[in-house]
Amino acid sequence: MSIVRFREVAITARSNDKCPVCGRRTTRSKKFWQTISPFNRLPDGTPKTRDDINRELKAEADAWEPDHRHAACIESDGGAA
Ligand SMILES: [Zn+2]
Repeated sequence: MSIVRFREVAITARSNDKCPVCGRRTTRSKKFWQTISPFNRLPDGTPKTRDDINRELKAEADAWEPDHRHAACIESDGGAA
């Protein structure tokens, strides 16, 4: 049995904004990652490079819209999104 370790490319996005319910600031962070491997390919079939992955991770992070409501605020807000 062999163990193959692929290199991971990761970025952590942080978002600092106001809770829309109580107005206090909340910080959210999320890690976006992919591995560089022969199996992680672009749509045209070529394996992704570190640059390709970084570009995709950045796009994912840019599209990320965290929920800045506190858990308690979500409850007092009736749970409505
Ligand atoms: Zn709140």
